[in-house]
Amino acid sequence: MSMRPLLLTGGLVLVENDSFARVSILVRDGVIAALLANGEGPTDAQQIDVADRLIIPGLVNGHTHSHGALGRGGVGGDLTLETFLSGCAWLNGSRRIDDLRLAAELSAAELIRKGCTACFDLFIELPGPSVAGIHTVASAYHDAGLRAVVAPMIADQTIYQALPGLLDHFEPPLRDAVAALTMPQWQHIMATCAEAFGTWPVPMDRVRPGIGPTIPLHCSDAFLQFCAALSNRDGIPLQTHLAETRMQQVMAGRKYGTSLTAHLDSLGVLGPHFSGAHGVWLSQPEADMLGSHQACISHNPLSNLRLGSGSAPVRMLLNSGVTMGVGTDASNTCDGQNMFEAMRLAATLSRAQAADCAGWVTTREAFAMATTGSARIMGLKNVGMIAEGWAADMVFLDANYCHYTPLRNPLDQIVFSESGGALREVMIAGDYVFANDRVLTLDEATLAIRAHDAAERLDTANADTRLMNEAASVVVKSFCGAICAAPSHN
Ligand SMILES: [Zn+2]
Repeated sequence: MSMRPLLLTGGLVLVENDSFARVSILVRDGVIAALLANGEGPTDAQQIDVADRLIIPGLVNGHTHSHGALGRGGVGGDLTLETFLSGCAWLNGSRRIDDLRLAAELSAAELIRKGCTACFDLFIELPGPSVAGIHTVASAYHDAGLRAVVAPMIADQTIYQALPGLLDHFEPPLRDAVAALTMPQWQHIMATCAEAFGTWPVPMDRVRPGIGPTIPLHCSDAFLQFCAALSNRDGIPLQTHLAETRMQQVMAGRKYGTSLTAHLDSLGVLGPHFSGAHGVWLSQPEADMLGSHQACISHNPLSNLRLGSGSAPVRMLLNSGVTMGVGTDASNTCDGQNMFEAMRLAATLSRAQAADCAGWVTTREAFAMATTGSARIMGLKNVGMIAEGWAADMVFLDANYCHYTPLRNPLDQIVFSESGGALREVMIAGDYVFANDRVLTLDEATLAIRAHDAAERLDTANADTRLMNEAASVVVKSFCGAICAAPSHN
């Protein structure tokens, strides 16, 4: 954090996520101290001329998985979520602590490069989280300068235990192999998380703990209740994959006799610290339930399309008072960490869902979701807007780039056309983390070498697991296909 204040002069600034104005931004101690008329400002400030920039707040990723950065290219084009979970589990196997760090660094580098300044990371460590693993991922984000919620993604049941009837679909010997898979006991998982959170290795202002029970169906009720109690006691954000696929919702009817959200509500899991990822198959009563609990949903449109999960009812959720964020999901299921793409899809996909434009997500709404909405999911205050007293997290776009020439409606042009191609600088808490086409906090060339080496080592180590996973996913595919052919609960 620089002691001397910064004065960014002459740029076209998105003020309070509302309208663009040519103002100077005074940054002091990592915070936007004031928005001033050009020519004003303290004389001791370091002045930077940003006259050829469009300046927007940093985008906030409401849902990602850093482990996916090392899983790129490992997810076939014909996989659904369930066949991915069963068929690609090997991608996360045999990883050492330094692999967890590498994945977080790769993810952070792309996030920064594409204009994201904060993310909610549900990362996985197998067979279960360790204090060293959680701390390593937190340290990686801290060193990269990115804001993050680091949430171990946890479950006490495998997919074979989680879905009633699935095991019966298997023939031996594969049946014995998948039946032998287990997750750690939830009491052990929670003790590890509590210890990791209680001995947090980095300052909490930038990187904080979260808790990520992966999918409600994969977690016992007592486990979910314990996660919620920890979340509520310490104000820790809790995120789970909620109604991501139709199969999950149908299976909830079988397993709980009710919808996923109603089940979570009965366990006391819903509340202002709660967010669901995806929410594709939520019903109107569930949306109302989430809204009345001040809960949030992270909309991850690209991942939903990639895995054929569907498209989330964003207008219905917004109308029910649910705070909406936007996320990318992992780099193996969404194939990147580009929040501009996710934001654009949040706006454009809605146009395929409703004939009446009243149902469409406006560019202003999409931008709010990808900034203040996701920040709310992360439990961050004063992040996601350029305004006095807010975090100095900003993205600087080249105003002369093709997307902006001519310039008539900067917000529409950014949401509908920006890909990251015009991105020139990124600032987090008053520090530049990207400039001159380089991430300043990470050595990207070395990261690439480490990623190639790690992938080769891991693919060799996981070769046998891969064969078993792929055979199992064929059975999971036929099981889930039959489930979804049956009438759904709601
Ligand atoms: Zn996810």
